[in-house]
Amino acid sequence: MTVSSLPNSRDSALLLGLLLLLSPMATNAFEIEGNKWSGASTEFYFDMSGMSLTGISWNAAFADALQEWNDKTVFEFIPVNEFLDPCASDLLNGIKFAGDACGTAFGDSTLAVTLRLYRTEILGPPSIVEADIVVNEDVQFNIFDGNIPQFGIPGIDFRRVALHELGHVIGLDHENLEPAIMAPTISSLDRLQADDIDGANALYSGLDNCEIKSIAFGGQADALEASDCTVAELTVGGDDTSFIDVYRLSLDSLTTVDLQMSSSSLDSVLLLANSNFDYVNFDNKLSGSCDSALSTLLPAGEYYVLANTYVEPVREDCGNTGSYELLASFSSGALQPLGSTLSALGSGTEALFRGGITANGGVSYGNLFSPEDSLEILAEVQVDPAHVGQAGSLIVAALVDGEILLQNASGQFLPYDPLAGIETVADKTLQASEMLTIANDLVPAELGIENISVDFLVGYALQQDPGELYYHASPINLTVRP
Ligand SMILES: [Zn+2]
Repeated sequence: MTVSSLPNSRDSALLLGLLLLLSPMATNAFEIEGNKWSGASTEFYFDMSGMSLTGISWNAAFADALQEWNDKTVFEFIPVNEFLDPCASDLLNGIKFAGDACGTAFGDSTLAVTLRLYRTEILGPPSIVEADIVVNEDVQFNIFDGNIPQFGIPGIDFRRVALHELGHVIGLDHENLEPAIMAPTISSLDRLQADDIDGANALYSGLDNCEIKSIAFGGQADALEASDCTVAELTVGGDDTSFIDVYRLSLDSLTTVDLQMSSSSLDSVLLLANSNFDYVNFDNKLSGSCDSALSTLLPAGEYYVLANTYVEPVREDCGNTGSYELLASFSSGALQPLGSTLSALGSGTEALFRGGITANGGVSYGNLFSPEDSLEILAEVQVDPAHVGQAGSLIVAALVDGEILLQNASGQFLPYDPLAGIETVADKTLQASEMLTIANDLVPAELGIENISVDFLVGYALQQDPGELYYHASPINLTVRP
């Protein structure tokens, strides 16, 4: 994060980029400034009447050019066969033949122009939000492969001009050194070259530059240090060299997610992005603290939690490298799905698991509580229909500091002893839904607990096959903090 990116950075500052096919520039292999679409995809509207002397419609050639970028790079154009005026600022991409570039005269040797609109981003270079193409109608276009000019085939090949302009739409700039469709002048090259493909893929592969960690509810310790990814590496461009950790967060249902990043050695900045890498929330740091906090109501889906700091610390006493703790908590109105269903021996099952912890009689469920809260820890096992009515056992495990505890029929948690066999909470005929009260009226302070993290897992096994245990991927986390 850079300081200037903070105030009002959600507002769309729209800049206009004008790129000419024949304008001079570029110094080394594939030229990118880092401007890109926030996802590696956009729709493109086109419907041009007419066809070339060689009998190919402009639409067919343009569709070919879109498809070539799709086939050879990670970028995905979604073709829409409908005319949209490229000169309208409507956040939609269109193309037309015209005598000028939306009011600006074409240069003497300009074949086509791509106009790009940008939005400033909280991290990294501005992103592209619209890119339109205007083709010079005073140029004699045709559609053919190979050399230009070519004996017996008049005009300039429209398809490679479309390929070039679509490279600008994606975010590529001119390439002077390597053979490329993105060269500043048109040539005998009529298909995408290795440099064009590498450039587009580099622009949209920033996440590959960084280690993506997974985040679970509860606390985890980490650090921002020299071996970490920088914002410039993550966003492929710009000059933001602050360190950043990237965590993937997966939500099964509508959930309020609370994040706290705290450190004694760095100025913490938390951001949250959706799977398209649009920023859905960030800490504006108005609190004046070195710590950072975010609270966001999020629909089910995949998200990225970004633990960042400043290039230069805003407050000298905060610093910008060192260890931190990331504490993730949630609140929801119902028991939560507990991730995918697993089994010890890998047989398929349709069992489902839900669970949650409440301190208010089920008004809300969460994972972060104070030592004085009175907690009820609940789980529901939706038994595989094929197992309903069979004799089985219900099992509850607690993981604390790497140790496994198993709950017995009296509700006590005892260390797991492989020699003594598996302790069960109940041996019974399995019903379709088994509700388990793992704890009731549990007040951590009364047990002398001020600070703890426990992960609970529930499962069941059939008496006829006790080695095959059915359970779930996401634990029920309990984090107690003073
Ligand atoms: Zn160009």
